[in-house]
Amino acid sequence: MNQHVVRVSEIGRAPRAASGAHAVPATGVLLDRLARPLTDLRISVTDRCNFRCSYCMPKEVFDKDYQYLPHSALLSFEEITRLARLFASHGVRKIRLTGGEPLLRKNLEVLVEQLAALRTPDGQPLDLTLTTNGSLLARKARALKAAGLNRVTVSLDGLDDTVFRRMNDVDFPVAEVLAGIEAAKAAGLGPIKVNMVVKRGTNEQEILPMARHFRGSGVVLRFIEYMDVGATNGWRMDEVLPSADVVSRVGAEFPLQPLEATAAGETAQRWAYADGGGEIGVISSVTQAFCHDCSRARLSTEGKLYLCLFASQGHDLRPLLRGDADDAQIASALGHIWQGRSDRYSELRAQRVPDTDAGAPRRVEMSYIGG
Ligand code: SAM
Ligand code: SF4
Ligand code: SF4
Repeated sequence: MNQHVVRVSEIGRAPRAASGAHAVPATGVLLDRLARPLTDLRISVTDRCNFRCSYCMPKEVFDKDYQYLPHSALLSFEEITRLARLFASHGVRKIRLTGGEPLLRKNLEVLVEQLAALRTPDGQPLDLTLTTNGSLLARKARALKAAGLNRVTVSLDGLDDTVFRRMNDVDFPVAEVLAGIEAAKAAGLGPIKVNMVVKRGTNEQEILPMARHFRGSGVVLRFIEYMDVGATNGWRMDEVLPSADVVSRVGAEFPLQPLEATAAGETAQRWAYADGGGEIGVISSVTQAFCHDCSRARLSTEGKLYLCLFASQGHDLRPLLRGDADDAQIASALGHIWQGRSDRYSELRAQRVPDTDAGAPRRVEMSYIGG
């Protein structure tokens, strides 16, 4: 192979990255085929989790025999940081650590510290956040803040202890997650967002108690439509409660006013309590696709880059990291991959474009690439 050409090995879609005439230099702005910039990177740091939420890691599939990635397959903190630096040179300004459950990755604060030292091309620190189920947050919030984490998003699907224990399916008490949220607040990891996945017939009765609990607390509650991610959760459209219903249920008790989006590519539609009690958000991935300005890339625990939550294939970057590619060559590979992107699964689903799915390869699991 020509020594200037680095082949992104493995999977079919992976393009070649080359230096010289075909190189994609890092200019701080990288556009895909639909003119969407790359600004947001989600990094999965583990494929393991201590919860078994049925919509994500159903117990029957993720049982004691499930084969998780061996430690040697995971990207090291240095490998993750090197990639993050190159992504930043292409325009990424926000990094979200996720999983599986990211707080299960040992010494995560060491990675946070390395990422917090990175800068955008104009010298700004990255916006560094983390999504967690909150189970270990009370123990870790202070160390994460000290390492340079800006904010956290906590997933919480109900306040009623019985409902919550059923949702996480490992009998984990809601009180410990609420304590984690308080610890994150006290540590200064705000403004905190709380994400609630709403499943019709399962936890919809928790919408109003959650709204009452977090209203006026400074925590932004966001309701997420149950999505057809992965291939194991047995998703059915009739279990999706459209965000419009959520807004009308909350609005019937507390009048709401729509808010303008604060940033392009923002996934949530925001609503303010008319009496000044803060705001809520709704993420309508199923009923109102937002692919047209989706600027997110996802890096799996073992270094595969996914361009869409619903992708079935990733671009394997690990051979580049563990081979002899230099930074410019890897940056060029990232550039080629993003420039070739045309994914817009949710829009196609909404238009009922016949598939998207039929005969399509198995989609990657949410617990593998993170939300
Ligand atoms: N374990 C962490 C947590 O739960 O916050 C981080 C990873 S989890 C995969 C990230 C987010 O994806 C969570 O907020 C979770 O509720 C959401 N999620 C997982 N499966 C989903 C589905 N089928 N539909 C909608 N959201 C989902
Ligand atoms: Fe674990 Fe998060 Fe998936 Fe629940 S949503 S099973 S907490 S990774
Ligand atoms: Fe982005 Fe894919 Fe979701 Fe559309 S379906 S918003 S392209 S991740």
